[in-house]
Amino acid sequence: MSIIKTNEEVAVQRHSALMVSATLTEVAKILKPGITTLEIDTYAEQFIRDNGGIPSFKGYGGPRNPFPFSLCISVNDAVVHGLPGKYELKDGDIVTIDCGVYKNKFHGDHAYTFIMGEVEQKVLDLVRITKESLYKGIEQAVVGKKTGDIGWAIEQHTYGKHGYGVVRELVGHGVGREMHEDPQVPNYGRKGYGKKLLENMVLAIEPMINLGTRHVYTADDGWTILTQDGSPSVHFEHDVCVKRGKPEILSDYTEIEKAETANPNLNTSYYTL
Ligand code: MG
Ligand code: MG
Repeated sequence: MSIIKTNEEVAVQRHSALMVSATLTEVAKILKPGITTLEIDTYAEQFIRDNGGIPSFKGYGGPRNPFPFSLCISVNDAVVHGLPGKYELKDGDIVTIDCGVYKNKFHGDHAYTFIMGEVEQKVLDLVRITKESLYKGIEQAVVGKKTGDIGWAIEQHTYGKHGYGVVRELVGHGVGREMHEDPQVPNYGRKGYGKKLLENMVLAIEPMINLGTRHVYTADDGWTILTQDGSPSVHFEHDVCVKRGKPEILSDYTEIEKAETANPNLNTSYYTL
């Protein structure tokens, strides 16, 4: 199966990506201290199904260890793949919500990190710089570049400029009829190396950046990836179509950011730094 999409397929996939954006927007409206991560997951699953989608993550990983939920909710030192449960969000948490939607035979897969209330300046900076690094990576997603150019751009902006830990065990990826397709898109790399980017490849570009060490481990639940030193971690992800000259971002943060700004429980002060 080709990882190069037709323009028609990209249009269909954009719809799935935007359903993820809409789901994350709904989530941004309900985040508050005291809400459990399971309540957030239940709400998101209902929203996805009400809109004719299927949560891509639910059951992912096969019969031996299927992912049991619709969202990955990764709080503080959890990098990715956090399991929704009884944990109640509180002021000072940073909360990464990763969501996948399958509709019309294509997956959308993207993620956003929210800040609950007051956090230290260094955490605000980590969130801002990680988000910036996502767009630095996206700029490279054009014909003529390689996956290493994306990784290089993300790594330069995070580790290079700020000494942050760039997670290596998990990487971005192609996304389409399968949630994880070729090529892999690491968040580190060398300019001019890696897989060639071709027109109409769709990539999930997703920096996972730690305030401290880049090293991570898997929790006893078999899913949650945590930073080894307990430092906070941030994750932003967009679905991006490789084009000539200028990449096309299929997912959209506009409404998420509006909902985030309108929610008094969420901290967006880094927007104006
Ligand atoms: Mg994701
Ligand atoms: Mg992904």
